Amino acid sequence: MDKYRVKPGSKVNLKKWDPDDRSEFDLSKEERDEALYPLNRKLETLQELLYAEGKHKILIVFQAMDAGGKDGTIRQVFEGANPQGVKVASFKKPTHKELSHDYLWRVHKHTPANGEIAIFNRSHYEDVLVVRVEDLVSKKVWKKRYEHINNFEKMLADEGTTILKFYLNISKDEQKERFEERLDKKEKNWKFSLGDLEVRKKWNNYMKAYEDMLEKTSTKYAPWYIIPSNRKWYRNLVIASIIIDKLEKLKMEFPEPQDDLSGVRIT
Ligand code: ATP
Ligand code: MG
Repeated sequence: MDKYRVKPGSKVNLKKWDPDDRSEFDLSKEERDEALYPLNRKLETLQELLYAEGKHKILIVFQAMDAGGKDGTIRQVFEGANPQGVKVASFKKPTHKELSHDYLWRVHKHTPANGEIAIFNRSHYEDVLVVRVEDLVSKKVWKKRYEHINNFEKMLADEGTTILKFYLNISKDEQKERFEERLDKKEKNWKFSLGDLEVRKKWNNYMKAYEDMLEKTSTKYAPWYIIPSNRKWYRNLVIASIIIDKLEKLKMEFPEPQDDLSGVRIT
């Protein structure tokens, strides 16, 4: 899966990252539906271990264009995880109060504590994406943010946070199909807004902003992964595998009991 990691300092041209790639799992239709289940169970066990051990903090960031699949990924990859140890933070348009602080203020309080997994559905990266493309602050201001963000994430990593960042890479055609489904199905209408079409018109500007973000903020301590996401089943398998691999490398163990339990009998 390392081929999806953006190597620190490398150039990123998103045209060269195939959103339809499925080279890691070439599965039949029947196999696809079954394949995620064992990974969900593994993740469930690792998360319980993380919670019980209480030594590590995990931060997982998801960024994508509209309809890129952030919600679905979170729902499907973390299916079965214990809600006590997994917190999802969704970052929407900042409130007046949030805007009156620095842009990391609202983010920091959602970072994980020991034993927790924090999942960011959008993140501080919006402050170099939508904010840049829509000219919400001047270039002079947003240009400095890549360095702030790297420093912020370095601090989190130094303090014991394992950070994984996923860009869900869909094509413009795939977005069209997903928007059409949101329009056609009454129960999906709520996910669609006319503003999404305005953003879609600026697709190329967004791609440029994403490329810069991926180049400037993929670090050893907080790597970006570009996930082929046109196929939802493939996206889920790749992301679940990367997270499992990272958690396994932490070599976690269930804690020793506080008391000597040998010979204890429950009467
Ligand atoms: P979906 O992908 O399913 O449409 P969503 O994450 O887009 O879900 P919405 O409520 O539709 O959810 O959108 C949230 C909006 O908030 C996005 O348009 C995003 O760009 C915007 N946003 C997030 N952070 C910021 C920020 N710091 N400044 C300005 N806008 C932001
Ligand atoms: Mg949206």
